Amino acid sequence: MATLKCVCCDKALTPVQDEPECFQPELGVTCTARGNFGSTVFDPLAIEERGNELLFFLCDTCLVAKRESIYLLRVKRRKPTPATNYLSH
Ligand SMILES: [Zn+2]
Repeated sequence: MATLKCVCCDKALTPVQDEPECFQPELGVTCTARGNFGSTVFDPLAIEERGNELLFFLCDTCLVAKRESIYLLRVKRRKPTPATNYLSH
């Protein structure tokens, strides 16, 4: 079983499934970070490292407590439109 711990309060979190590769906590969320130019500790630029991400966890209690510091990235809902304008014989 994977060891999951809240990155904020260090509380141990239980995986939702009893499997070694389960990285989804009960009562918490799985977070990833791709790094960025501004970080001096994680910015995977080397070709063999591109796309690497950090994986960590946040318990629901801390998620709510820190809500003023968290952003939501919405996935824009797309409406189906007729393809006749784009497809021709
Ligand atoms: Zn926590």
